[in-house]
Amino acid sequence: MQFTRLRLNGFKSFVDPTDLVIANGLTGVVGPNGCGKSNLLEALRWVMGENRAKAMRGDGMEDVIFAGTSSRGARNFAEVVLQIDNSERLAPSGFNETDMLEIVRRITRDAGSAYKVNTKDVRARDVQLLFADASTGAHSPALVRQGQISELINAKPKNRRRILEEAAGISGLYQRRHEAELKLKSTEQNLARVDDVIEQLA
Ligand code: ATP
Repeated sequence: MQFTRLRLNGFKSFVDPTDLVIANGLTGVVGPNGCGKSNLLEALRWVMGENRAKAMRGDGMEDVIFAGTSSRGARNFAEVVLQIDNSERLAPSGFNETDMLEIVRRITRDAGSAYKVNTKDVRARDVQLLFADASTGAHSPALVRQGQISELINAKPKNRRRILEEAAGISGLYQRRHEAELKLKSTEQNLARVDDVIEQLA
């Protein structure tokens, strides 16, 4: 899977629709301080399902919406679209029918985030699993924030292990195992309740 296009609209400093073609090979983004280079990386992480506002350098998730300037009013929504070349059919099953995948995340003030994959409404979890299964995503070690290297050096072994697990592509499996454990627990509780009822009837 290769990222081919990133479109931003109302996301942080990108108030006007902005279309970035990601060509094969190495892409460099250069510009003066404060022009929005980190915002681009954050847009990438956000569309892949980042749900921690702090990782977006905000207090709440709505802080990613263009907040306005002295000459332009604030926007009511922000949208990021990520296009992925899937011609080699490397996407995880369930998303692997088309040559191109288009993932859209939109946040509207007071209404939260909504996701689409190829125009179909999906849950945040579906998008997060799509990228986790492909060994990438909002927490991918391939996306290195400012200050992250020193954080890594000082991290606890358990947190360092998580990075290796993400790189190995097994973090999606852990997420599924956690969900299966929760389901098992609630089924056990239901069975215990059924036993109580049977005992009362006997
Ligand atoms: P540096 O080279 O200093 O790291 P940079 O090019 O990475 O800078 P960013 O940190 O991506 O720049 O962008 C910061 C700019 O984005 C600031 O001017 C800030 O005001 C603007 N910005 C961030 N959030 C919003 C928002 N919600 N609405 C409008 N502008 C925003």
